Amino acid sequence: MPTLKIDSLSKTYPNGVKALDQVSLEITNGMFGLLGPNGAGKSSLMRTLATLQEADSGSAFLDEIDILNQPHELRKHLGYLPQEFGVYNKITAAQILDHMAVLKGIGNKGERKELVDHLLQKVNLYEKRNKSVKGFSGGMKQRVGIAQALIGKPKLIIVDEPTAGLDPGERNRFHNLLADVGQEVIILLSTHIVDDVRELCSRFAVMNLGQIVYHGSPEDAIAELRGKVWQKQVSREELDSYQAKYQVISDKMIAGKPQIHIFQENDPGDGFQSVTPNLEDVFFTKTKLKTETV
Ligand code: ADP
Repeated sequence: MPTLKIDSLSKTYPNGVKALDQVSLEITNGMFGLLGPNGAGKSSLMRTLATLQEADSGSAFLDEIDILNQPHELRKHLGYLPQEFGVYNKITAAQILDHMAVLKGIGNKGERKELVDHLLQKVNLYEKRNKSVKGFSGGMKQRVGIAQALIGKPKLIIVDEPTAGLDPGERNRFHNLLADVGQEVIILLSTHIVDDVRELCSRFAVMNLGQIVYHGSPEDAIAELRGKVWQKQVSREELDSYQAKYQVISDKMIAGKPQIHIFQENDPGDGFQSVTPNLEDVFFTKTKLKTETV
């Protein structure tokens, strides 16, 4: 069972942005969600673990492999699906996978053909294997991306923002495929979509401003908020005054009127009703409110 151990990883870009600030995490097999708003530092962490960029300090180990100092060794055990899986449009799905298999060091042609056919079947693209990927939908391209990430029996699969741009049906198929990949692998899934984590991950972390601000299970995170989230429908004009008076976690339009969720230890009165917290409340509480209050 593989273990990924990240210890005090930090990275400041030349422009002064501190994208990773003492990030520490321990992740074992199964699907792990990394949730955070845009700019939180998720891609910086993913790219560092995928050996595509260097950190300033800290360490990361996949079992005994020192990721920062043995990038070649790590790559043998890595499957990586970047945010935009750039495929050359004119070639077929089978050609892409064959090419990737060559890059991963599978020299035997017959062995490659067998592997490519198996992967195409797994991601349900076998019938389309000789079609140019030009005509593929976003979801189909993502499935080619997952197929190439599975080449070489990886121990660690990194998937960066996989469902952005997919329609709900494609997203479902993609989720099922990920869930199917197996338990002997660590799948690290970075996303700003709360539902991706809720549906797929038994463990997750929330990242904000380069730091890990929560690490645990979705159930525990929700249990911590129980009895502390309150809801009220307000008018648009009142919104600012509520923002000033309460710790507003989120405001959402329901039938044209803002519905706000606030965080408060005890009953605020004032027409607020207690609500059962959800993972979205967790996300906003951890990323929007001042940390000393939660
Ligand atoms: P996320 O994936 O969570 O959206 P990123 O890791 O892409 O976050 O970005 C974290 C922060 O680092 C952001 O403020 C972003 O603007 C900045 N950043 C990302 N890449 C670079 C880079 N190559 N050079 C300078 N700043 C960068």
